[in-house]
Amino acid sequence: MLSESAVEEVYRRISRAMPGRTKGAKGPKGQPDAFRSCISCMLSAQSLDRNTAAAAKALFALAHTPRTMLALSDERIAAAIKPCGLYNMKTRNIRRFCEALLAEHGGKVPSTREGLLSLPGIGRKCADIVMSFTFGADVIAVDTHVHRVCNRIGLTEAKTADRTAEQLEARSPAWALRDGHFWLIQLGKRICRARSPRCDVCPVSDLCEFYAARDQA
Ligand code: SF4
Repeated sequence: MLSESAVEEVYRRISRAMPGRTKGAKGPKGQPDAFRSCISCMLSAQSLDRNTAAAAKALFALAHTPRTMLALSDERIAAAIKPCGLYNMKTRNIRRFCEALLAEHGGKVPSTREGLLSLPGIGRKCADIVMSFTFGADVIAVDTHVHRVCNRIGLTEAKTADRTAEQLEARSPAWALRDGHFWLIQLGKRICRARSPRCDVCPVSDLCEFYAARDQA
């Protein structure tokens, strides 16, 4: 893994090269409130963005509060979210999530990681995405792009996105937490792509462990 000073340097460079947090950005997948952000995040598990969007649109046309969601039958929820796959499991999670939200939080989505993680169906990635996008917290949410980029560069050394998130939080300078997710995700989409990383134009190639190893191979 990179040293503390190299981690700082990586952030300095990507902060100059990539756009940061967009002012007024809406929740994940453009969802306007925390409840819909959580549900959208649940729907996105192992689903393409366009299928998640289609499922979310169909579901929120039927209900967009925990109470109205619980008034729907499982069959109706499952039929609406079918495009995003795993719809029986996701239907169960949505129901359990809504029940817990009403029973333990008065129907209001909590804004802390601890509170979010206590809800059925919400894992570290969803909790961090909702905290960052919906509540504007300084948290680096780790999706597939951030996970890949961090472990290639050597910011982290982790097999799972959750572990990457833990290490990243511990190893990132405080000033990078606000926009770090946005810089890293853009680096992953534009340059450090999954199949063909564009190392020749990458602003951190001389610091990157993946690049160094590839160079030696
Ligand atoms: S040098 Fe290559 S592998 Fe390393 S971060 Fe840049 S694009 Fe990714």
